[in-house]
Amino acid sequence: MSTAEIVPIPRSLHLGRAGRPVRAVVATLSDGTPYYAPYGEIVVDGDVVQCHLCGHWFRSVLAHLPSHGWNQQLYRETFGLELRASLEGRATREQRARVFRRRRRQELAVQTGCREGQRWVRSGALAQAAAAAARGRPQPEQRRRKTLATLAAVTSEARAAGTRRATEARLREAASRIRRTRSPARPSVAAGVPVRTARANSSTAADSASRSPSAGATMSPRR
Ligand SMILES: [Zn+2]
Repeated sequence: MSTAEIVPIPRSLHLGRAGRPVRAVVATLSDGTPYYAPYGEIVVDGDVVQCHLCGHWFRSVLAHLPSHGWNQQLYRETFGLELRASLEGRATREQRARVFRRRRRQELAVQTGCREGQRWVRSGALAQAAAAAARGRPQPEQRRRKTLATLAAVTSEARAAGTRRATEARLREAASRIRRTRSPARPSVAAGVPVRTARANSSTAADSASRSPSAGATMSPRR
């Protein structure tokens, strides 16, 4: 879709969710520029999104930004917004998706690009490139808040399960270590050397060795 197809909604509809006037200044930037939507947040109301710079509502803030002389990179960095968070309302996003699906069906170049993209995703190259690009860049406020919300939403049961899994993994590792250190002693046992003698010589090693089969037996069915 070209930007010309995206039309700002009429001024008469420039009202907030509860019919409030939209031009309430939230704060000002360091150069004194006032802004009208919260830092680190994209305010969406169905099909329209509020512009931080003027407080008006648009189907696509993306298409509206040049009217302020701003580009989206500057806008996202200034207002702490994530790179991939949409600056468009629902209807515009759906329209873009429809147009893209049609182009993918009809245009060879788009098909080739999609296949290349999928290869990047599958090989992990895309994730690596994204991590490299993000290195040294401050985390957007919007992302930081999401991370905190996710951590807060992790239940105590989930945390306990995670601890249990880690403990089991450590026990499995310890058991396999004991099995490895124990195997050279087998020939002497087979040759008739009483286990008791070995225990008398080295009680610690023999004790752990004698415990290990039962430890392995209780753990293996668990995971
Ligand atoms: Zn604006």
